[in-house]
Amino acid sequence: CRRPHPPQREPESALPVSKSIFQKIIDREIPAKLAHEDDLCIAIHDISPQAPVHVLVIPKKLIPRVNEATAADQATLGHLLLTAAALAKKLGVAETGYRLVINNGRDGGESVPHLHVHLLGQRPLAWPPG
Ligand code: C5P
Repeated sequence: CRRPHPPQREPESALPVSKSIFQKIIDREIPAKLAHEDDLCIAIHDISPQAPVHVLVIPKKLIPRVNEATAADQATLGHLLLTAAALAKKLGVAETGYRLVINNGRDGGESVPHLHVHLLGQRPLAWPPG
């Protein structure tokens, strides 16, 4: 006699199951101070700014962190940097200088599992970072 097939399981996914705080902001479920939006990304003013200018540039596509980006994300990744540079000009820090930061993983200081580029400026920034 033939045994019934065991129930099919969904394959385990590396992606987080619940929505990240940034996905909720993108979906307008929680508020944020918007600095920019286009088809590929949004930019928001950081809720806890570490410099007078502190903006996060966030892809609309959920890429958890740069370590998990693929060749298919190449255009999006480039767009995040060009958008950050355009925002630096718009926010008046391009002349004096600024820093772009991507925290990746635990030791990198990543706290939100949805890729984002920090744009920090309008004060001298120490090097090396902590
Ligand atoms: O790189 P990291 O993951 O640590 O950065 C997350 C950033 O998201 C923090 O700078 C934090 O202040 C910011 N944030 C925010 N609005 C929220 C939650 C977090 O701007 N609602």
